[in-house]
Amino acid sequence: MTNYIDLHTHSTASDGIYSPTELLRRAKDIGLRVLALTDHDTTGGLDEAAQAARALDIDFIPGIEINTDVSGGEVHVLGYFVEYERPAFQAIIKVLRDARERRGQRMVELLNEQGINVSWDRVREIAEGAVGRPHVAKALLEAGYVQTIGEAFDKYIGTNCFAYVPRYRLTPEDAVHLIASANGLPVMAHPIELPGLDELRNWLPGLYEAGMVGLETYYGPYTPEDERALRALADEYNLIPSGGTDFHGPGIHPTPLGGRHVPYEAVERLKAAGQDASHIRVAPTSTGEITIQG
Ligand code: AMP
Ligand code: FE
Ligand code: FE
Ligand code: ZN
Repeated sequence: MTNYIDLHTHSTASDGIYSPTELLRRAKDIGLRVLALTDHDTTGGLDEAAQAARALDIDFIPGIEINTDVSGGEVHVLGYFVEYERPAFQAIIKVLRDARERRGQRMVELLNEQGINVSWDRVREIAEGAVGRPHVAKALLEAGYVQTIGEAFDKYIGTNCFAYVPRYRLTPEDAVHLIASANGLPVMAHPIELPGLDELRNWLPGLYEAGMVGLETYYGPYTPEDERALRALADEYNLIPSGGTDFHGPGIHPTPLGGRHVPYEAVERLKAAGQDASHIRVAPTSTGEITIQG
């Protein structure tokens, strides 16, 4: 048994290329001991993944990733061990997915207005589950407007491009509350996506207060210096340093599955936090306070 773990991956339930079963099969092939599936705004792949993991004797952690936009960039919040069957939790993530549908349609409209002919029907066909920009990018690729998924982001649907549409207005604190309200463990994903460590420092106290327990410190392309800075911040704010590859399959993010070393201790600490209810610093019923404007 190895100690290799990957706590950040995506499947066809959101914008990954491989089905949950295929993802687990690949995890087995490369000898992963623990895998977490963290699809965007959906838990639709978790039952299948858990079943595949049982068959393959992989320790599976159910997860989710909730993306939020903030003025300086994006804050994505991972949630591990969420009690995802809870109706109140499902109702809210359904609102987020519905907002994704409207946002995708609007991006297609903006492309069409500029004479770029991709159809919403095709985007919807490409997306098997929760729709996202990678599905719009794939439609652009198929139609020959770009040569790579990355080029679609650079030219059309990246944050500063004409067809970009902001997502639902959910604050990072809301995302943390949402996960904590279903007894999940909120962990800030790829924290350097916020421009600069100073900006990150501005967010950490509030997110810790909201119930965040971890900081993704070992992430795909982060350098040893990034890692050191994030470990120091994790220590300072009493957060569990965790990590993963953000594997989606070829074309989206460069790191292969399991291709980032993450200390096994991250799993032990997350599991211990899950056993210890003191990480829940918000009332379990606080989801009622969360407002989402699609
Ligand atoms: P969305 O949540 O719909 O805004 O889509 C964001 C997703 O797009 C991220 O989770 C990544 O999977 C993917 N993504 C973001 N930027 C790029 C990029 N430059 N190239 C390829 N994929 C990207
Ligand atoms: Fe993604
Ligand atoms: Fe992310
Ligand atoms: Zn991700």
